[in-house]
Amino acid sequence: MMKRRNILKSLAGLSLVGTGIQKPIAATKEASHGPHASDSDAYDVIVVGGGFAGVVAARELGKAGHKVLLLEARNRIGGRTYTSTFADRSIEFGGAWVHWLQPHVWAEMKRYGLGVVEDPFTGLESTKIMYNDGTVKDVDPAIFLNGIRDAFEKFNHDVWEMFPQPYNPLHSPKVLTLDNQSCWDRIKSLDLSSDQRVQINSFMALYGGNTTDKFGLPGMLKLYACGGWNYDAFSDAESHYRIETGTAGLLQKMLDDSGADVQLGTPIYRVEQNDNGAKVFTEDDETISGHAVVLTIPLNTYRNIEFAPGLSAIKKQFISQGQLSEGAKLYVHIKQNLGRVFAFCDQDQPFNWVQTHDYGDELGTILSITVARASTIDLNDDERIQTAIRQLFPQADVLSSAAWDWSIDPYSLGAWPAYRVGQMSKVHEFRQPERRLFFAGGFTADGWHEHIDGAVESGLRVGREVTALLRS
Ligand code: FAD
Repeated sequence: MMKRRNILKSLAGLSLVGTGIQKPIAATKEASHGPHASDSDAYDVIVVGGGFAGVVAARELGKAGHKVLLLEARNRIGGRTYTSTFADRSIEFGGAWVHWLQPHVWAEMKRYGLGVVEDPFTGLESTKIMYNDGTVKDVDPAIFLNGIRDAFEKFNHDVWEMFPQPYNPLHSPKVLTLDNQSCWDRIKSLDLSSDQRVQINSFMALYGGNTTDKFGLPGMLKLYACGGWNYDAFSDAESHYRIETGTAGLLQKMLDDSGADVQLGTPIYRVEQNDNGAKVFTEDDETISGHAVVLTIPLNTYRNIEFAPGLSAIKKQFISQGQLSEGAKLYVHIKQNLGRVFAFCDQDQPFNWVQTHDYGDELGTILSITVARASTIDLNDDERIQTAIRQLFPQADVLSSAAWDWSIDPYSLGAWPAYRVGQMSKVHEFRQPERRLFFAGGFTADGWHEHIDGAVESGLRVGREVTALLRS
């Protein structure tokens, strides 16, 4: 046990790419107690993980009158969302874009009166495609957009049949016939031009955070169905609007509303349970008791937690397979004003999705770049970043950059929750409660499982599940 704890501690000390240090937005141990604070030392519920899933679960359970403790390993709330600043602009190192087609997060924004800011996604002035061998093609924006729309429609040709009810993902038994197929299996079967193939493969590598042969097909089809079975609606949902306060602003509103105690900087390493209650063990040698424990930690971090008794076979299987995505986010400040640009780069290239974040004659350009496979580039290497940027924009001078590599961050060990081949049909089994343990996180959502919306959805679900247990 000591050995494992030491590993976790040393991982926690890893220096991560980029600075973008943000003050913790939440309260600490001194935070106000819930309604039953003085009743006993035991909590009704301990929620582990303060990303969207955990904060929503804490809010739901606090509002239901339970005494809740939220334990978060990092010194900030937000998990795989991380509001920060770069070149005096508000940025998100993790999840950023939201939309009214993502109903759970949108309802939360409306509940707390938050609006959106727009990214320059429409009216593109320059669009590019980069092949795996490094060839870059400038493509007229209208041709570029028609090319990806056509490729997407072909890719999703059976989506209505497979996902007539996207929030009931196994409604059609036909979905099971797709679960052993990858997105690459689908792409290679389509009649596409070589440019379109690069476009759609880049897109899918991005969604998988990995090569498309590992990325499960039905999970991707389901996301498209959630986006209204329509390319334009889906792509607008994906990269157009951010929350006006940043994700951190919404999280803080929910937390303020929760009445939960919050302990930051408190990684847990062990969970025990029996018929009467559960205990979590923290890295600070604290043991905390509760009637129930909600786990919202990313799938890849389960491997660092001991469970007594052990988890079910299906959970062990998911934990040993792990979640697919190895992504990172990079912001680059360029001296020149490039205008509204967009580029897709195929899966062997490091910059898979390149989009203008802000631009102007005085500012130059800030690019927001999503890296599907962080192992393809050293994000600490300024020269490498300059070279990769110049492959796309030969005139560009990089002034500065900042990145967050989620694949080496010890409290995510991966990026957005993409399903591997074979995982989608079993997620509902993975999320089943085990006596006093409950499981949430974007990964477990019925709908937008790769998104903030899915995390919110899962927090609402687990709130209902735990309340049912506590009331019984
Ligand atoms: P997390 O946010 O990961 O929360 C889990 C929490 O558990 C973390 O705070 C973590 O620190 C904590 N934890 C881990 N281990 C321990 C431990 N041992 N003890 C205590 N706590 C622990 N979604 C969108 O909707 N739109 C986007 O534009 C978008 N873009 C993205 C871009 C990137 C680069 C990334 C990484 C993600 C993106 N996503 C996007 C996905 C979205 O951010 C996530 O799916 C969502 O935030 C996951 O929330 P969660 O609560 O399930 O998990």
